[in-house]
Amino acid sequence: MKTIYTNGTIITMDENQGNALVEENGRIISVGEYDDLYQEDMLVIDLKGHTLMPSFIDAHSHLSGYAMGLLQVALDDCQTIEDIQKCILEYIKANKIKENQFINCKGYNQENLKEKRHITKQELDAVSSTIPICIQHYTGHCGVMNTPALQALNINEKTISPVGGKINYMTGFLEENAYTSYVQKIPMKSLDELKEAYTKAQEKYASYGITTIQDGMIVDELKDIYQMLVDTDDFFLDVVGYLGYDAVQFKEVFKDYKKQYHHHFKIGGYKMFLDGSPQNKTAWTIASYVDGTYGYPTLNDEQIKNNLQQAIKEDMQVLAHCNGDQAIEHYINQYSQVCSQDIRPVIIHAQMMRESQMQRIKELKMIPSFFLAHVYYFGDIHLRQLGKERAQTISPLHSALKYHLPFTMHQDAPVIEPNMLETIQIAVNRQTINGKTLGKEECIEPIEALKALTVHAAYQYHEEKDKGSLSVGKKADMIILSDNPLKVDKKHIKDIEIIKTIKDGKVVYEKNG
Ligand SMILES: [Zn+2]
Ligand SMILES: [Zn+2]
Repeated sequence: MKTIYTNGTIITMDENQGNALVEENGRIISVGEYDDLYQEDMLVIDLKGHTLMPSFIDAHSHLSGYAMGLLQVALDDCQTIEDIQKCILEYIKANKIKENQFINCKGYNQENLKEKRHITKQELDAVSSTIPICIQHYTGHCGVMNTPALQALNINEKTISPVGGKINYMTGFLEENAYTSYVQKIPMKSLDELKEAYTKAQEKYASYGITTIQDGMIVDELKDIYQMLVDTDDFFLDVVGYLGYDAVQFKEVFKDYKKQYHHHFKIGGYKMFLDGSPQNKTAWTIASYVDGTYGYPTLNDEQIKNNLQQAIKEDMQVLAHCNGDQAIEHYINQYSQVCSQDIRPVIIHAQMMRESQMQRIKELKMIPSFFLAHVYYFGDIHLRQLGKERAQTISPLHSALKYHLPFTMHQDAPVIEPNMLETIQIAVNRQTINGKTLGKEECIEPIEALKALTVHAAYQYHEEKDKGSLSVGKKADMIILSDNPLKVDKKHIKDIEIIKTIKDGKVVYEKNG
């Protein structure tokens, strides 16, 4: 059955315009004038003056992290160390948690705590000295464990910190490679609990108008749940997974999924981390932070090169987490030495990218994906830690436009919610949480922000033939918005409502639905 959408604004994101769009079997079959396209056997969808446009494509987040986050104790609203302790204690009582049963908590930010520091192992031991507790920083890059958790993971005073990470046994604080490698060893929830969480997570993404999601760091431990999710056809949005380099078993089990969707899942390539984050002063920088430190790398040049060579040999894409300009510099240099075919390598976060790096990025056909909402959420911290001049050039979108870089934007969920309309508003206004404007010169127009979240993101996934615009022949992956983001007051873009999210022609989210 053919469906015709009409009586609203249609943003096609290509040169073909019209006041009506026809969909059949999940594909767009025509765009043009209603009077020319309408046929009697069509189902008519009245847009009621609303706006139809391509759905959003998530350029970088962690579906698994987001899903599991739904099963964790949320500490986002805690304002003191005592709040954190109370929150965990209540969870233990309410859920009758037993000895040795791991508790994962997430979302704390020491900057938001009255004490302005991380909680300690001793303070978590005071909550329980028999239940292992791990609390994860909102960035996902560090966290604190109590004594039973450290014991369960075989960490003691003699344990050596892995390269690119640090273990502070005295306080229970682990960062970067130390944290991310040990946290993977925590036993997972049951498959049924996980399955439900992945469904809820997809519903959340759909509510933000997203129909293609990334799982930006897949490890072998996710093999069983993924097997179950594809076997039971539980993915109703497209999911693109990026493998950690040691996810050897996962890669073997899902070898038919390489760059090819089955049951809405495909493997896009590999993921690696080159440094940390600017707010934790672990992003690796060329010039120092205000306090004289430079952050540090998590991989050396040879490792970067080997990883890139392996990806090129296997014709896989690479996503590299690079926040600091020094990390970006090393990524560019290593890639320029090995690139032989275009694997569309992505610079994930790219926050401190310098204009002097953009020409080379352009020539190498690398794609920056900016964690733009940092300007709002962490802009005030950047001002303090980087100084005004450098903080203003965080996520230099307008400069990237000058070099015609096909950049994308992301929220790195679960770091923050995958709220695309909010990201557009921040890209257009660059206001911090405290209302300061951070680098007015780097503001962009709403249409450029939309491109980043649709056409460019489709290109990043090698899916420009299928997604990113409402063009004839492409998938009917679309959203209906209460207002036109190109016309509405620039300070109110985030207030636009997602009325419907449509995947392959079918409604997967409906406001009040
Ligand atoms: Zn990252
Ligand atoms: Zn990430």
